[in-house]
Amino acid sequence: MPFILKVALPCPLRFCFDYLPDQSEAAWQRGLRVRVPFGSRELVGIIFDIEDMQDKVQLSKVKPIITRLDELPIISEELLNLISWVSEYYHHPVGDCFQVALPKKIRLGEPALLMKETYWSLASDSASESKLGKKQENVLKLLQKNSTHLSQQEITDAIGNHNDALKRLEVKRLVKKEKQVKKPALVTDLIPLKKLNNDQEAAVNAVWEKQNKFSSILLHGITGSGKTEVYIQLASLVVSKGKQVLILIPEIGLTEQFVNRFKQHLSVCIVVFNSSMNDSERQQAWLLAQSGDADIVIGTRSAVFSPLSRLGLVIIDEEHDSSYKQQDSLRYHARNVAIIRAKRENIPVLLGSATPSLESFYHAQSQRYSLITLAQRATGAELPEVELIDSSGPKACNGLSSILYKEIGKTLEEGNQVLLFINQRGYAPVLICHDCSWQASCKHCDAKMIVHQSRYQLRCHHCGFNQPLPKECPECESTEMGNYGVGTQQIEENLQTLFPETPVLRMDRDSTQRVGSFVKLVADIQAGGAKILIGTQMLAKGHDFHDVTLVGILDADQGLFSADFRATESLAQLITQVTGRAGRGRKPGKVYIQTSQVVHPFWQDLLQGGYIKMAKKLLQERKSSLMPPIGSLCVIRARAKKQASPLKFLTEASALLNQNQKLVMVLGPVPAMMEKRAGNFRAQLLLTTQNRKALHQLLDHHIEAMSKLKSSRECQWSIDVDPIDLY
Ligand code: ADP
Ligand code: ZN
Ligand code: ZN
Repeated sequence: MPFILKVALPCPLRFCFDYLPDQSEAAWQRGLRVRVPFGSRELVGIIFDIEDMQDKVQLSKVKPIITRLDELPIISEELLNLISWVSEYYHHPVGDCFQVALPKKIRLGEPALLMKETYWSLASDSASESKLGKKQENVLKLLQKNSTHLSQQEITDAIGNHNDALKRLEVKRLVKKEKQVKKPALVTDLIPLKKLNNDQEAAVNAVWEKQNKFSSILLHGITGSGKTEVYIQLASLVVSKGKQVLILIPEIGLTEQFVNRFKQHLSVCIVVFNSSMNDSERQQAWLLAQSGDADIVIGTRSAVFSPLSRLGLVIIDEEHDSSYKQQDSLRYHARNVAIIRAKRENIPVLLGSATPSLESFYHAQSQRYSLITLAQRATGAELPEVELIDSSGPKACNGLSSILYKEIGKTLEEGNQVLLFINQRGYAPVLICHDCSWQASCKHCDAKMIVHQSRYQLRCHHCGFNQPLPKECPECESTEMGNYGVGTQQIEENLQTLFPETPVLRMDRDSTQRVGSFVKLVADIQAGGAKILIGTQMLAKGHDFHDVTLVGILDADQGLFSADFRATESLAQLITQVTGRAGRGRKPGKVYIQTSQVVHPFWQDLLQGGYIKMAKKLLQERKSSLMPPIGSLCVIRARAKKQASPLKFLTEASALLNQNQKLVMVLGPVPAMMEKRAGNFRAQLLLTTQNRKALHQLLDHHIEAMSKLKSSRECQWSIDVDPIDLY
């Protein structure tokens, strides 16, 4: 019987498109890529289904494909089913889900071929009479030392370009070359695995016991308790059984440090996905995973879609981190997808954090997840003491209290490092006119422009719009203009003035934008010696700096007054994580927090009770307000150039959604907190329910009618299931 190919295409429509197969002999299967005509264009799509053709009349309407791109499916059944689930759960067009799940070159239809590389090894008859040059001897020594083959690149990395020497040695038949699949280099000097302490060993055993069946396990280990060491040993065990391990890490600059710890201990193929890779590197990593060459895949959010056919364990490090949630196009949460994947593949998933998300904590409390605790630091170090400083007290300079100033001086004298943490949002200086109070604001957003002094620029942090710093006020032509608020850069300058002998390093998005500069900064810090480090969020996470004994949090008030229902949870996580950066080595640490709210109950709860007690209290609050993880949320957002359009569409959508049902509350529409952004006006509807299934059914039921509303054509709109913020 003739059949029709249902092809998922990169377009915003919520269905697959019908095409006829060509004459190719090989079997037609789901997961093959095809190039097809689409309007006046050609697109590459994935065969998502194959259906028998029922109706003969159809035939004339269906176009044939242009070319078939793969002999065998490039995406496995399991992965297709996972993406199908993602498309349904997040109510996102399936074709667009593939855009997120696949590397660009694969999406664009390039041949799925692994790159090869020249590898050199010693020839078996390596005795020679002829005299060798210095360079040739160097190469031989290197190859002898490694007793394995090395790629041309690895040789260059180790001892510089020796290509000519290699050619000469080849003529003398002392070395031979071979083309082989290009794989990440192995570390040549392996370090034996650490001996685990009792708690770590119990953690490894508890997970290992659950191999070959699905379970979610929350590993709550305080900062420095040795969670990473537990991951390494579990990975080693799983790989020794011939299985693959998928490790997700947050989207921050610490990939390198984290991956190196695995490489140092394990002589297996470790493939990495991170944001600094180019398209070819991504494609190679993806294909190494797919071919089974990769034993361990380590990557950020989208690595959850890696093609792994022998998956044995999923690990999610810093599982509370908000970067696991994608905030545009397909708004998926990688933790959620990972758990579904583990469930379908019948394997355990390990969620690790010093500050578990309330979601995971809730499931551990209700025993849907098992809970493992590491309560001690692995090095035996104590957690640092924490002290609050009233920020309205005496100051050494703008933003720095006298108490903290003295402590910094003491710490530096002892040859130790100081880490000062800045909440970027609270520290963004704006430009104001002292005569008429004019403030620089973005013409595309409801937002103030931020002063970037070092570049003499005003910059909008919401749309990226920038302009040179004006010399005079555009309103009254006064030249009496100044910055209001303290910026990271200003703090840096102040500290450099206060401590002229000490290097001050700043680590924020501005200073680490260039690829490699982050790595260099980290290395510089690890090299030790008295230094002051100033940083934003990215410093709070995961770094292991042994010489940091003093941590200062310059302004903690922001999170105490936010309208966001997750603000307190995030602040508690941040404070706990930042605190964990102090005293990780042999020297004890101390933490100072500057706040104008020293008597706020939050501090009592967190500092005396600890994170878990705080989490329990917050969970209680979520129970009474029916917020996640107790209730479920969904936000429907719309934006348009015309102010009235999003509200009109959402009002009509809300009328549809409210028809004959009581299980889901539809609130709004309301304009977004920042209504205008990048030239668009924005509004939203909030859906809340205690019945997740009802929510999904409701969306399924109305989504098509919503797309067909005339008012929907005047705006762009999206559905955000399980939003992490409501703005
Ligand atoms: P976490 O991931 O929980 O923050 P790490 O795995 O980074 O903790 O461990 C913190 C520090 O303790 C690291 O310097 C690590 O080398 C050390 N460490 C971890 N486990 C052990 C162990 N069993 N014996 C000795 N040192 C350990
Ligand atoms: Zn003015
Ligand atoms: Zn803007």
